[in-house]
Amino acid sequence: MGRIFVVELEGRSYRCRFCKTHLALVSDVFSKAFHSRRGKAYLFNKAVNVNVGTLEERMMLSGLHTVGDLYCCCCGQIVGWKYEVAHEKSQQYKEGKCVLERVCIVDEPDFCSEFYIDTCPTVTVSDSEDA
Ligand SMILES: [Zn+2]
Repeated sequence: MGRIFVVELEGRSYRCRFCKTHLALVSDVFSKAFHSRRGKAYLFNKAVNVNVGTLEERMMLSGLHTVGDLYCCCCGQIVGWKYEVAHEKSQQYKEGKCVLERVCIVDEPDFCSEFYIDTCPTVTVSDSEDA
């Protein structure tokens, strides 16, 4: 109970802005044309290391959807939402997909094989030594 299994993504990914946990692959971006109340949002084919909150019906610009908030499994921040059901036929491509809000994720630049999950929220930059 309460044990967290963190999935590490291979390849370029987006991470939680708050705890740097991997959330989704850049290659899984379905659309970057989404908007949330807090600004830009991206639609992903899938996201990892997230928990889906209570499902609720939400009226959106594109119609009625049954959605659940997505919480980062490490820090508990809301990072977006998941479409469970789209009631409009034209919107059903979204079902099962996840939206991550741009303000909640950070773009990971090309990342080498040497990486680890940094659970500490402080950013460490230690590349200032003179050669
Ligand atoms: Zn997090």
